Amino acid sequence: MNTQPERNIGRRGLNLARIGGIFAEAYRKLEGKRPCPPIRVEYYRFVGINHTVRLREGRLLVRLSDLFRRAPAPVLEALATILLAKLYRRNLPREARAAYREYSNSPEMRRRAQASRRKRGRKLLAGPEGSRYHLTALFDDLNREYFKGCMPAVRLGWSLKKSRRILGHFDPSHRSITLSRWLDHPRVPEVVVRFVLFHEMLHAKFLARSCFDVRNPHSRRFREEEQAFREHEMARNWIRNCS
Ligand SMILES: [Zn+2]
Repeated sequence: MNTQPERNIGRRGLNLARIGGIFAEAYRKLEGKRPCPPIRVEYYRFVGINHTVRLREGRLLVRLSDLFRRAPAPVLEALATILLAKLYRRNLPREARAAYREYSNSPEMRRRAQASRRKRGRKLLAGPEGSRYHLTALFDDLNREYFKGCMPAVRLGWSLKKSRRILGHFDPSHRSITLSRWLDHPRVPEVVVRFVLFHEMLHAKFLARSCFDVRNPHSRRFREEEQAFREHEMARNWIRNCS
């Protein structure tokens, strides 16, 4: 989710013309002799770390996360390769991905990304009171029934968009659970809403554990505990058939 474009150049970062040069060079490596379209680069205040490149009226428009202002040249080279390879559907060079990841996964960048999500992501969530279901009430019931009332408070809200693809989401940086507004409707049985909420509450619970693995949020242990939800099969079937 974006806010306003930013044009300032970081004091210690590369200037935008130099970054444009890096993208042109990456283009040449990927596309060989095909002439490179004119390139425009700008920083953008995305929520979290995010970058985009798209073709607009014959020009390449590059938007880099403003959290990358001070990224060194090799990281920007890797990023340019990744973004252009995606745009032109080329194979992603492994080294580029590794170089990019090393930088973006560094503790400092992760901290800054999380702070940005906290600050900028605040308005992406509507309150817990839907027109059909009230998430706070459902949360309290589930907490009593399945978590012995021990689950610490979580911010609850309905998404602003009605997504059928992403029905729920737990965000550790806000400690928030968002359910898709698509679920807040009389055609959706309560058990389904409860199940989606229960699933996200389990994520909140697992995050606190030392064995938590970011790369595998739906571990076997997670799936096992998910089965504790009484009507999980019914809910799952409904979701499979209707969403
Ligand atoms: Zn999940």
